[in-house]
Amino acid sequence: MTSINTAIQLMSRQDAERSSARGGTCSPDLARGPWEFDMPGVSNQGPDYGPGASMTDTAPVSTPRQEVLPEEYQRAGEVELEARILAAKEAMGERLVILGHFYQRDEVVKHADFVGDSFQLANAALTRPDAEAIVFCGVHFMAETADILSSPDQTVILPNLAAGCSMADMADADSVADCWEQLEELFGTEPDDAGRQPVIPVTYMNSSAALKAFCGRHGGIVCTSSNAATVLDWAFERGQRVLFFPDQHLGRNTAKAMGVPLERMPMWNPRKVLGGNTEQELLDSQVILWHGFCSVHKRFTVNQIEKARADYPGVRVIVHPECPMPVVDAADEAGSTDYIRKAIAAAEPGSVFAVGTEINMVNRLAAEHPEHTIFCLDPVICPCSTMYRIHPGYLAWVLEGLVAGVVRNQIGVDSDVASDARVALERMLAAKP
Ligand code: SF4
Repeated sequence: MTSINTAIQLMSRQDAERSSARGGTCSPDLARGPWEFDMPGVSNQGPDYGPGASMTDTAPVSTPRQEVLPEEYQRAGEVELEARILAAKEAMGERLVILGHFYQRDEVVKHADFVGDSFQLANAALTRPDAEAIVFCGVHFMAETADILSSPDQTVILPNLAAGCSMADMADADSVADCWEQLEELFGTEPDDAGRQPVIPVTYMNSSAALKAFCGRHGGIVCTSSNAATVLDWAFERGQRVLFFPDQHLGRNTAKAMGVPLERMPMWNPRKVLGGNTEQELLDSQVILWHGFCSVHKRFTVNQIEKARADYPGVRVIVHPECPMPVVDAADEAGSTDYIRKAIAAAEPGSVFAVGTEINMVNRLAAEHPEHTIFCLDPVICPCSTMYRIHPGYLAWVLEGLVAGVVRNQIGVDSDVASDARVALERMLAAKP
């Protein structure tokens, strides 16, 4: 069973010593198996996300409930599960491709044929049209995107159905539709003299297929943390303003770097009329930011950066743009997971990096680059609680199902939704910097 000890083992020895000395873990529940959160009655509202940085976010009622993992998988140790996963992979051969997100735990990622961010992985699946089954070791919206982009005869599987994303869940289709209705009432639906629409919807990749489809239907587009500025440029050419969801921080950090003043970026709170804004604030807006955030990246603070600079003079601080604006401003650089990886790989040996992103990825980077000193800005081990739910036990369970001809946990996006979502994704691919 993966536990606090395993989490600590995943770290480089130097980093483990530093972290245990400084902060320990954010939850004793990290010692529990994720299946304990699937038990009926654990939550009246649906499954909890599990221990980790997003554990305090509310899982929506609509969150799919994962059936309780059979006991033989709960009881199996790491060695046994590894052997069973390898045997199932061998039996499936080329009929199977396993995708692993950067934030996934090592004992799962090591079985992946491709490791990357959500969009890299969706594209990686396209390079394997021969594979009947795509097992996505990530979270729900990622599996949906893979299903949208893969061919109809391929089956996408999420090993634990309750591995959602608390940020993606902060913008549901009904709330966005309600927001859109209010904006249409305020701005009208006619373009201005320059042919620009009143509002262009932009959704971050970390959103449900329904919201990607919403963007496809309303002249909007999808963005990733790598191409958010290019996508905003695309949207500003076509619209007087942008509605950006669900991550306020990526929207704010990107638009600010492009010169949009903060006072022209009101926030939309879906629980309030006009999102909690006056009509004038919305009329003056250039980017309307949805009230969403990533609980993992929200943990990073300016104090942590100051401490890293005090402890390691000359340290290079790189953070993800899902971090709050003061943290991005105080860092040396901000960029996507891919940017962070490349920056570290290109650095002179002996460099020191303080990184503001998910702990599994930071620990892996530290292990891959012993020539550098790399540590997580947050001294507390606090992984993404939704990624935590993909445990080798679930991976073995779905893989052995496939070998036996049983498809478990298939993620299927309705064909109308998929076709509208594809429009928004294709606009993103066509948008050039
Ligand atoms: S790290 Fe944040 S944005 Fe990424 S899956 Fe976890 S909760 Fe969602």
